[in-house]
Amino acid sequence: MTDYLSQELQQIREQGLFRTLRRIDASSDTETVLEGKKVLLFSSNNYLGLANDSRMKEKAIEAIKQFGTGSGGSRLTTGNLSLHEQLERDIASFKGKEASLVFSSGFLANVGIISTLMKQGDVILSDSLNHASIIDGCRLSKADTVIYNHVDMNDLEKKLQSVTSYQRKLIVTDGVFSMDGNIAPLPAIVSLAQKYGAMVMVDDAHSTGILGKTGAGTAEYFGLTNQIDLLMGTLSKSIGAEGGYVAASHSLIQYLRNKARSFIFQTALSPSVVAASIEGIRIIREERERSVRLLENAEFLRNGLKKSGFSLVDGSTPILAVLIGSAQDAVHFSKRLEEEGIFAPAIRPPTVPEGMSRIRLTIMATHRQEQLEYALHTFVKIGKEMNLLSTKNVMQSK
Ligand code: PMP
Repeated sequence: MTDYLSQELQQIREQGLFRTLRRIDASSDTETVLEGKKVLLFSSNNYLGLANDSRMKEKAIEAIKQFGTGSGGSRLTTGNLSLHEQLERDIASFKGKEASLVFSSGFLANVGIISTLMKQGDVILSDSLNHASIIDGCRLSKADTVIYNHVDMNDLEKKLQSVTSYQRKLIVTDGVFSMDGNIAPLPAIVSLAQKYGAMVMVDDAHSTGILGKTGAGTAEYFGLTNQIDLLMGTLSKSIGAEGGYVAASHSLIQYLRNKARSFIFQTALSPSVVAASIEGIRIIREERERSVRLLENAEFLRNGLKKSGFSLVDGSTPILAVLIGSAQDAVHFSKRLEEEGIFAPAIRPPTVPEGMSRIRLTIMATHRQEQLEYALHTFVKIGKEMNLLSTKNVMQSK
């Protein structure tokens, strides 16, 4: 009965695309332990280092002592703790919106929001590099989905012109694209949305806590908070905990609370995670120097890699996509990095297009200068070994 599975797995192996789990034996700080070996971590979404902050741990422990380890029910039955309500108030205020709703993960937030708001007869316009959870939300929604070329505003306008007969339209985009690290052109998206009468939803998973004056993300960065209908995000990256959310108007939030299946039929987040999230948002709002440091760290490594002859996707965020080429080369590069004590996995198809396999580095505010310098030195060493450094790149970045 399951022969077809083994055959397919064999094909995946032959294409060099077989995935295995790697075991981390310590906290996900800049130095960690990978299967017994000490390594520098350059692939965590714990951008600000808050997942290891003692104040976050304290709040989580206090919440366990007061409320226990599990919430014991869905939010609409017995699981709605005062902590959840406080977190939702804090997210709304942080994001500059009337209200917010928390889900058990960012993935479930995207799936729930999109599949609930958009129905048969509606149309969704989605960037070709949007996160998998947005794609799944679109699929589940039964609305027609039109994919526009990545950040191509001419293509988005062309596609908007082809869907004028639909009554309800939603444009959805990552704020910062998770595999490339570039920022979505929100001013152009908002202006097209206004011209063609579409709602806008932004997934700020990778910019919350980092971009914008108060760290609220790409909408704040562009001064467009009021023009964007739905600000989605996750509690699992900069905020250092777990869970997903959306901030929007009262009526949108009430609608989702009543209708979103991934909210209604899921056990509420556990007290420790919620308490840590509240603390994470407080720290982000009060300690802006963390994100300044993070962006400086990212800039240092990005410039260093470019000057050394590596090809990087253009960007100004803590996600550095160092293009390697084939899946096999990317895997080899990552293996060599690991031998040199750096953990940064290769990203391969189907996550990224064929020939665009890469090492995706994520920088942390807590990376020390000598760690960044060691990473740069090691990249150059392996780049030379594999003949990947282009003199053209070196000339261009001078
Ligand atoms: N959106 C984007 C852009 C992401 O990168 C991720 C996580 N990788 C998610 C949503 C899902 O968030 P979570 O991990 O909280 O489920």
